[in-house]
Amino acid sequence: MTQPKSIYRPSWDDYFMAIAKLVATRSTCDRLHAGAVLVKDKRIISTGYNGSPPGLPHCDDVGHLLEEGHCVRTVHAEHNAILQAAAQGATSTRGSTIYLNYSPCIHCCKYLLAAGIVRVVVGKIYRNSQAVDYLREASIQVDLYQENPTWKEHLVELFTEEIPTKTAPPIKFTVTR
Ligand SMILES: [Zn+2]
Ligand SMILES: [Zn+2]
Repeated sequence: MTQPKSIYRPSWDDYFMAIAKLVATRSTCDRLHAGAVLVKDKRIISTGYNGSPPGLPHCDDVGHLLEEGHCVRTVHAEHNAILQAAAQGATSTRGSTIYLNYSPCIHCCKYLLAAGIVRVVVGKIYRNSQAVDYLREASIQVDLYQENPTWKEHLVELFTEEIPTKTAPPIKFTVTR
C-alpha cells in the first residue's frame, strides 16, 4: 500500500540531505553551491555552506579569487560546519555524521578526519571520487545518497502547495449555570 503523499515521512538520510541542499542555497560562490549538515545522535549540531569568512566580500559581489583554476575566496561548506560547531556549539564533533550535497575536496576530507567525523553521506560526486577513496582509506564510512523519488515528489509538493493538515474534531463547550 502506498502512503498518501501528504503524510510521507522521510528517512533520516532523506531528511538531512534535503536540509543540506537547502543550506547550499545560501552559498555566495556560484562555482559550486555546497551545503553541509553535521549531525550527532540524529540531531543537527551545525550547518555550513561555502562563502567568504565574516567581514570579507562575497564572490557574488566582487568576483572569484582564482588560484590555479580554483576559487579560494570561500571557506568550504564542510569546513564551515566544523568551524561553526567550534565557535558556537556545545557538542563535540567526534562520532558525528556529515551530510554533503557534493563530495568534499581533499582538504576538507582532512578536516573531517581531524574533527572525528565517522560517517560521510554524499549527494553527488563532484569532479572525481578521490575524496571517497581517501576517506575510506582512513576507515570512514562513506555512503552515496540514493535519491528517493517519493520524497523528491513530496518536497516539490511541500514548497509549491500547502500540505493539508488533519483537522481536529470541533471542541464542544458545555455551559453550566
Ligand atoms: Zn568564488
Ligand atoms: Zn573543501
